[in-house]
Amino acid sequence: MLDGIFLSRKILPDRNNMTFEKSIEKSGIFSEISDRNLFTKRMEVNTQILPPRKLIVILVDALRESFVDGDFINYVGDYKGYRMQLFKKLKEKYPKRLKMFTSIADMPTVTNQRIRGMSTGTVPLVFDLGGNAGVSSQIVEDSIIYQAKAMGKTIKMYGDDFWLGLYPTSFDEHEIFPSLDVTNLHDNDNLVRRRVLDQIHNHSDWDILWTHTLGIDHAGHTFNTLGEGMNRKIKDIEQIIEEIIENLPDNTTIALISDHGLTPIGSHGGKSDDEIYTFVAYFQKDVDFPEDRNPSEKLKIISQISTCPNIAVLGGLNFPFSNVGSWIPEIITFSPNSTKHQQLLETLKIFVRNEVQTYIYITKYLEITEISDPGTKAKMEAYLLSIEGRFKTLVFKFKSSSSLYSAEGTPSAEEIDQLEADIYEYIDTGSERILEIKELLIPEWNVSYINTSIAIGALSMLVLVFKVLKRDTEEKDKIKQS
Ligand SMILES: [Zn+2]
Repeated sequence: MLDGIFLSRKILPDRNNMTFEKSIEKSGIFSEISDRNLFTKRMEVNTQILPPRKLIVILVDALRESFVDGDFINYVGDYKGYRMQLFKKLKEKYPKRLKMFTSIADMPTVTNQRIRGMSTGTVPLVFDLGGNAGVSSQIVEDSIIYQAKAMGKTIKMYGDDFWLGLYPTSFDEHEIFPSLDVTNLHDNDNLVRRRVLDQIHNHSDWDILWTHTLGIDHAGHTFNTLGEGMNRKIKDIEQIIEEIIENLPDNTTIALISDHGLTPIGSHGGKSDDEIYTFVAYFQKDVDFPEDRNPSEKLKIISQISTCPNIAVLGGLNFPFSNVGSWIPEIITFSPNSTKHQQLLETLKIFVRNEVQTYIYITKYLEITEISDPGTKAKMEAYLLSIEGRFKTLVFKFKSSSSLYSAEGTPSAEEIDQLEADIYEYIDTGSERILEIKELLIPEWNVSYINTSIAIGALSMLVLVFKVLKRDTEEKDKIKQS
């Protein structure tokens, strides 16, 4: 068992590799056999209604929310530079095929920790000295990458070399670029563009294209966020996303995600709004997403950690064992032939699987961890009890409203409305509880330690100063010429 340097959260190397039925049996959630069988039977996911999608994950490093323009943006701050116009256009053209969110990053807002969190669904464990700097060590916890491999999916990875450090043997193909060469603004992004378009047009042997563009982050470190260098880089990334969208095949969803924002001087690591507000979007051309339940002018604010369960659901993957992210029920794609009733039932099933997985994780976590704070321990135990109660209520509903809660039933339109309200109430309450559990696992950061780390990171940057100055001048010359 590995411990973090400062934190008590333990890494569990367990993988979520049991069938759902088996995991329910092992979990001890139901003592009464007949109830358990009814529960697992009703929870069988119907892949005819919920066919897995191909995925293109575009992680745009440092995509601060304010770099995107639109009335829907929550946080702009003092930013006056260029803002991507693409998403306003997409919203007009494909209102039902685009889902956008304001995604709030946890601390520390450094790439390594954030991409670990998004791929495993866990909170940080160790703060690496120098933040982004340093070698990224292999991930031993369960992850969506592991789950995709376990299901026999083909994953190709292009971009930031961090991913290869975290998952050295997981990608069927890769082409990487060194993360730390912050003076190189374009080569990595051009690589991502070239390789994704090539895969779309000339290859079909992939299920997931996993990419990570670095240019905006590097422009931040090189120019700060206030000048023409940053404006130009944001336009570049916008063009790359637009080109991939224009060429997007059917049965494929883009997950545009980001790790953190940037301060006005182009740094990150802390918890200012500039650093934690990031932009996230899911887009597909061939099928609608479900309608927004509570339409609002501004984007819904979600926790960055939900990236893990969201991608898992789109790809038809199990939730990773240690995931404490709560799936966002709008991020789902049904077969166009399915009925509203079927869709609601599948939505419920997916969310319940999210809860079962957190139940098993927290049970195991309590078994092997000595939690010194009695309050934290009591809250985790209360969480398990609440899940048990919720599942018993569900079983009661399965029995008492069997036509509503079963795919064989043919409920009236009114009954469907009632079912929808019930299911979403169930999900909203459950979602809040999962996020509370996540908060319990997040450590109190030692702020002076973090500041020292960031200072060390900044010093290591100075080593690159000559290169930076040289590239800076070259870049400005290029901008003048164009
Ligand atoms: Zn980053």
